[in-house]
Amino acid sequence: MLNCKEVSHLATDHLEGQCSLPTRLKIRLHLLICRHCRRFRAHLLLSRRTAARLAHELWTEQPQTVAKIQQALKNNK
Ligand SMILES: [Zn+2]
Repeated sequence: MLNCKEVSHLATDHLEGQCSLPTRLKIRLHLLICRHCRRFRAHLLLSRRTAARLAHELWTEQPQTVAKIQQALKNNK
């Protein structure tokens, strides 16, 4: 059985579907019994969704801001 530290290290790969089937099953088993890791996973999901939503809003609603960011990144190279 995986411990909490191992599950937290695998969390991003798990959310992105990059874990093997045996690893996914071990993670799911751990999540069944560990509320701390369930909470960690929920926060990770929320953070990812929030970042994606903000990036989408920035990209679609404020293209001039995106252009400024892209120009600033080019100038810093
Ligand atoms: Zn845990």
